[in-house]
Amino acid sequence: MPQTAAPDFFDEGTPCAVLTTEPVGSGVLDYLAPEGGCWLGAFVDVPLGPRRVVGVVWGPAEGKFARNKLRQIIRVLDAAPLRSELRDFLTRVADYTLTPLPAMLRLATRVPGLGDGPATRKLLFRGTALPPRMTDARERVLAALDSFGGAGLTPGELAQVAGVSAAVVRGLVKNGGLVEQDAPRDQPYGRLNPALPRSALSDDQAQAAQHLRDAMAQDKFGATLLKGVTGSGKTEVYLEAIAACLARGRQALVLLPEIALTSEFLTRVEGRFGARPAEWHSGVTLTERRRCWRMVAQGDAQLVVGARSALFLPFRDLGLVVVDEEHDTSYKQEEGALYNARDMAVLRASLNGAQAVLASATPSLESWANAASGKYARVDLAARFGPNTLPDMRAIDLRAEDLPSNRWISPSLQRAVTARVQAGEQALLFLNRRGYAPLTLCRACGHQVGCTDCDARMVEHRFQKRLVCHQCGASAPIPTACPACGAEDRMAPVGPGVERLEEEARALWPDARVLVLSSDLFGSARALKEHIAAIANGAADIIIGTQIVAKGHNFPLLTLVGVIDADLGLSGSDLRAAERVFQLVRQVAGRAGRAEKAGLALVQTSQPEHPVIRAILSGDEETFWRTEADARFALGMPPYGRLAGIILSSPNMEDAFALGQRLAMQSAPLARIGAQVFGPAPAPIARIRGRHRVRLLVKAPKGAPLQAALRAWVAPHKLARDLRLAIDIDPQSFL
Ligand code: ADP
Ligand code: ZN
Repeated sequence: MPQTAAPDFFDEGTPCAVLTTEPVGSGVLDYLAPEGGCWLGAFVDVPLGPRRVVGVVWGPAEGKFARNKLRQIIRVLDAAPLRSELRDFLTRVADYTLTPLPAMLRLATRVPGLGDGPATRKLLFRGTALPPRMTDARERVLAALDSFGGAGLTPGELAQVAGVSAAVVRGLVKNGGLVEQDAPRDQPYGRLNPALPRSALSDDQAQAAQHLRDAMAQDKFGATLLKGVTGSGKTEVYLEAIAACLARGRQALVLLPEIALTSEFLTRVEGRFGARPAEWHSGVTLTERRRCWRMVAQGDAQLVVGARSALFLPFRDLGLVVVDEEHDTSYKQEEGALYNARDMAVLRASLNGAQAVLASATPSLESWANAASGKYARVDLAARFGPNTLPDMRAIDLRAEDLPSNRWISPSLQRAVTARVQAGEQALLFLNRRGYAPLTLCRACGHQVGCTDCDARMVEHRFQKRLVCHQCGASAPIPTACPACGAEDRMAPVGPGVERLEEEARALWPDARVLVLSSDLFGSARALKEHIAAIANGAADIIIGTQIVAKGHNFPLLTLVGVIDADLGLSGSDLRAAERVFQLVRQVAGRAGRAEKAGLALVQTSQPEHPVIRAILSGDEETFWRTEADARFALGMPPYGRLAGIILSSPNMEDAFALGQRLAMQSAPLARIGAQVFGPAPAPIARIRGRHRVRLLVKAPKGAPLQAALRAWVAPHKLARDLRLAIDIDPQSFL
């Protein structure tokens, strides 16, 4: 009888291939099935050299070793086997991004206690009495516990979130400040009820929702671009797609670009479906991660809200993936496996017979083009929900303003802010630069303080009283004497960062409450979340923010947005410079006037005639996208051509360059598919953490088999020790 399908069960002693998370060979090694046999996809412990590692039964044995040389799988772990769709997904992402399979499996198994059974464990709760003696550390422990709203934590977690030693926690248990209770390891999530009544939809919204419901009803793959201006109710609409998905008994996943956005979304889900969904991101405790992973695998988590890595969760029956703010650059993972979660979400949906919904007010050109070509469906929400209108947008021509040096808020912007603050409304000043000043310069010799390990200038952070390298994170005290010429007290900050803008705002509006929102000013995602909630409730009159304010937050009292420097980024040689400025400024402007009062966005620029600035102000988006698309098409650039970035790095610059040159010379495999190689050239950031960086860029026609050609191209080159080669398919960053 001809064998058609691969076997899905291996009897005891049968050879089978196991993929481990260890980077040995292709990552797949042959083993003998354990006592009792094992299923295809089973999570297992296997011996590897002297160690024991986690793996997944990946298929029939590869047969490279004699059977009597094979070792036996130690045991099958108590977890649902990895489903074939997820195995396919890992393989496809590995092939697409040229990432080794073991690294992909690591992404899919980032869960603590994978092999542990469903035991109980000890959780700590507040005791009935306060401890006899209070200390700072004890206070922190109790406060940390309270901040989780009465949920119990394991001793380890509690010590970690409170930032105290295990001994402090043990002491509190002993003196009754904390009590221990046994709890089942993984609590099921509350049931979401898709049939609960929802708010009435506007005509536009109802049509969009109907489109998504019809798509869900087909139980097959499809992708939709949901384009709607800020505040149009995109969330409201895709909640209907989620309802349809849950009603069919399938699971849904919503990806958000920023952890700080999750709490508002969780509350909305609870309001709509009567229970909170599962959460998956770096801000949840290990216990919650484990619970989420297990429940997702069992089908007992109906909806997951998460960061990009949630794409690798072991869903039983994924029916819908929503990528909210799909244009957001943080969807691109820039370290390790270089994947774009937006694109991989569509791939995962296609392998699961699921729907993908990409939502944004300012979609990426990639998605816009996919909708234009009919690959994705597109639904539009053209107006804000309710009586709200979009904010008015106007330029402030900086050339016509009287702006003293070291000041960045023009008189026109100042007047507008004063008027709003007096009316009891909020104003937001947007500047996409963290820290106090982007540059520290010696006025005696002109020396600019740079990072010792990177080719980057040190940025002054006055709040931390240090200079910080934004590339590697290294920091140093702010010098009083010039490190180059030794002159005392001549170091001066040049240019503005949000902290310096805060100083200017406090001087201009001494009676106003000024708050800065910048990712580096908060110790934890939780602190940032609380800060954002406080602002939404009116805790500030003037908000000064970096790009984190552009990401979908809802500030009902905010009626004025001032963009401090719209030209920042326009001059960049980056392929997506125009697209990014357009998205960022329109997103930030969209924060204004989300409640009853009309909003205004004032955009400071020295180039009001620049086509991008004109497009931002006119709001003629389709013309902007079409122009941008035509320009990219003419150049054969993405999305009408394909790019791959090659980064070579080494402590030794010559080594990196020499390999770059060899690659550039021996490019026949690329030429065969019609691809061109540019470079080698020093990367714009030519040194990071002491490693010199050299870049090559490969440009290929759309549809050419780029990955296979890249593999054939780099394969003959053996990398010297210390030399690293990373390939970035569809690069977003060119630094
Ligand atoms: P978007 O995701 O497009 O920015 P949201 O879905 O967040 O828009 O909607 C913006 C605001 O309008 C939210 O406060 C939301 O609750 C409200 N809203 C939108 N649609 C409706 C509706 N049909 N009924 C009631 N409120 C709505
Ligand atoms: Zn550095």
